Amino acid sequence: MPAPLANLNGVLMPLDDVKISAQDRGFLFGDAVYEVLRIYNGKPWLEKEHWDRLGQSLAAIRIAGVDLERLRLRMRQTIDAGKFTEAMAYLHVTRGTAPRRHAFPKDATPLEFLFVQEYDDGPTAKARTVGTSVITHPDIRWGHCDIKSTNLLANVLANQAAAEAGASEALLYLPDGTMSEASHSSYFTADGGALCTTPLKANILPGITRNFVIRMAQKADIPVREQVMRREDLFKADEVFLTGTTTEVCSIVKVDGKPIADGKPGPMAQRLQELHRKAVAEFLRA
Ligand code: PLP
Repeated sequence: MPAPLANLNGVLMPLDDVKISAQDRGFLFGDAVYEVLRIYNGKPWLEKEHWDRLGQSLAAIRIAGVDLERLRLRMRQTIDAGKFTEAMAYLHVTRGTAPRRHAFPKDATPLEFLFVQEYDDGPTAKARTVGTSVITHPDIRWGHCDIKSTNLLANVLANQAAAEAGASEALLYLPDGTMSEASHSSYFTADGGALCTTPLKANILPGITRNFVIRMAQKADIPVREQVMRREDLFKADEVFLTGTTTEVCSIVKVDGKPIADGKPGPMAQRLQELHRKAVAEFLRA
């Protein structure tokens, strides 16, 4: 198995050798944005969508001067140099290094960091087959979860609560009882043959897999409704499932210890998993 390989500001190196200043604003303030891509058989999946979202995140927090095409080539070189096949790529851009002051420094150069590492799909593949358990948890995040920022403390705490409850994910609910998304995934319900998911105008990340699933569903004539759901709606749904770059499509069979429907992965999630599998296979053939 190849060791994780990094590229820091254009220099290729083993991930373990990366050294970043303690004055880096990503480290001090979480003043940074990131992306995670899935690499299937050496090829980055939905690559354009990830670069577009990184560009939007950078613009939203006003980090300027990052050449995304150069960063894209670095990612490709890193995948090739490590001969990675089944892998994930992590991209991370910070506002750079400067003496610690909250306002933007005048002359900091953005730090451009990425690494690629093998991805073992085994445990997730098993969860896709048998389904997974989640908890519900308060969404205590900030008001700009549409930006893929590295400020993930609320997500970390929610996911830890899930782990401590023997679950894999936390579905987040807002103070008014409406659902937003999960700690590191998007979620859908299926009801009477239609799909339902949180609209993007709510405070959620525009998940790339979420968007891909909506497109696949529309092509397959499955009705899709983007609407806010309440926590209690989860238990009335025929199915609930997660989507995400490494998760793909994964049925939720239990929420807070209670089964969803008959407690088994449902036909809608299975159909979307199959459509996703076929789409990846077609992409690899192209
Ligand atoms: N929502 C949150 C909060 C996430 O962190 C992620 C992925 O990291 C997702 C949703 C899923 O997004 P994507 O499908 O782009 O991986």
